[in-house]
Amino acid sequence: MSFQSRYRFSAAWLPDGWRRNVVISVDPAGDIVDVSPDDVVTTARLVNGAAIPGMPNVHSHAFQRSMVGLAERRGTQADSFWTWRETMYEHASRMSPECLNAVAAQCYADMLKAGYTAVCEFHYLHNQPDGTPYAEPAAMSQALIDAATTAGIGLTLLPTLYQTADFGGAAPTARQRQFVLATDQYLDLVDGLSRAQSPQIGIGVALHSLRAVPPDAMKTVLTSLPATKAIHIHIAEQDREVAAAQQHLHARPIEWLLEHARVDRRWCLVHATHATHAELKAVAATGAVVGLCPTTEANLGDGVFALPTWLAAGGTFAIGSDSHISLSPTEELRWLEYEARLATKHRNVLAAHGDGQGDGSTGAMLWRHACTAGTRATARNIGAIEAGRRADIVVIDTNSPLFAGRDENTLIDTFVFSGAGHEVRDVMVAGRWLVQEGRHSAETAIAVNYKRAMNRILE
Ligand SMILES: [Zn+2]
Repeated sequence: MSFQSRYRFSAAWLPDGWRRNVVISVDPAGDIVDVSPDDVVTTARLVNGAAIPGMPNVHSHAFQRSMVGLAERRGTQADSFWTWRETMYEHASRMSPECLNAVAAQCYADMLKAGYTAVCEFHYLHNQPDGTPYAEPAAMSQALIDAATTAGIGLTLLPTLYQTADFGGAAPTARQRQFVLATDQYLDLVDGLSRAQSPQIGIGVALHSLRAVPPDAMKTVLTSLPATKAIHIHIAEQDREVAAAQQHLHARPIEWLLEHARVDRRWCLVHATHATHAELKAVAATGAVVGLCPTTEANLGDGVFALPTWLAAGGTFAIGSDSHISLSPTEELRWLEYEARLATKHRNVLAAHGDGQGDGSTGAMLWRHACTAGTRATARNIGAIEAGRRADIVVIDTNSPLFAGRDENTLIDTFVFSGAGHEVRDVMVAGRWLVQEGRHSAETAIAVNYKRAMNRILE
């Protein structure tokens, strides 16, 4: 019999609800092999707190974490997504593999401390700032893989195809050359990275957007893929993007995508912000997940996604921290509900679309839904505390004053709606305790590297 680690959690949120005295056994590979509730007999290390499944973060551009707060000052012209993008391009041009690695490790460690245990990294900084490939063309991808390994977070790396500045084949700008790969170079990159996949590091693909990927390139990539790969795309984030699609493709972006690609459960449509009801219904029928990033979408002034309509059509959503203006899953989730409350002038709006298990609890519905759909978008075996899944577990500090007088029925609502982040006490990924008592095991070294990189980036 192989060596297993066993932990007894005073409470754990399992697929069928809350249970007490739950003994969870984890094998050396990081998979849960047994979950036994109401077990007070087995000898196991006691973990005092409430165990919940870790949250997948389905949309990240890790390098953007290093520019939070640097684009919040009003310029001479009206600020928009497009003026923010200029700041972001300038920032991207200062990223070397070493800097990207240091920034991503800090970003991922902070995600873990807030309750994210997996991340989909939508990665398009492939080249040197002037567009020359690195001597090792996968250097930037490798920097991200190494950062995820240092921090310990589960990774779905999404090498991203980016070829044009806009619809109609517009040549990339000087700044965008850093992102551009020819289709064959791109497929070589995906193929090379895929050879080194592991249970902790998966490789999917991403199409940056319909404005950055010409139809022919999209077709070649999609027909060259193994059927199991996760496919992500920025689809309809900005009104201007929708108008340009209508001009060049004679269709709205989602409309066009559904006509020209076989969208199915492997797909994650990020920022499906500007969608008609008909588009939402059609996407929901494909089984694709939408990736919502409410704090970033608010920060950039994108617009509000019609989440109640989407859920009523049977659609599923996952959350991402995208530009990392916030690294808190609870903040993303409560924004989704608050947007719905402000729009409908009702309370507890999204809980109407739960699976019935949360007993009407909005927080429970949001966490479980985003966990389940997010798992699909990662194409990894995570997202629930049950035998056969990766042991990715977040422990809420139920001794915190915030939870005084709360039981299992109100715990997740209190956590989601009032949590400031430090209620996450311990975090396990693949059976390893990465965060204990609110501290990441490598946080000192990660912070030293990050500060050194920031001095270089901002000098
Ligand atoms: Zn994005």
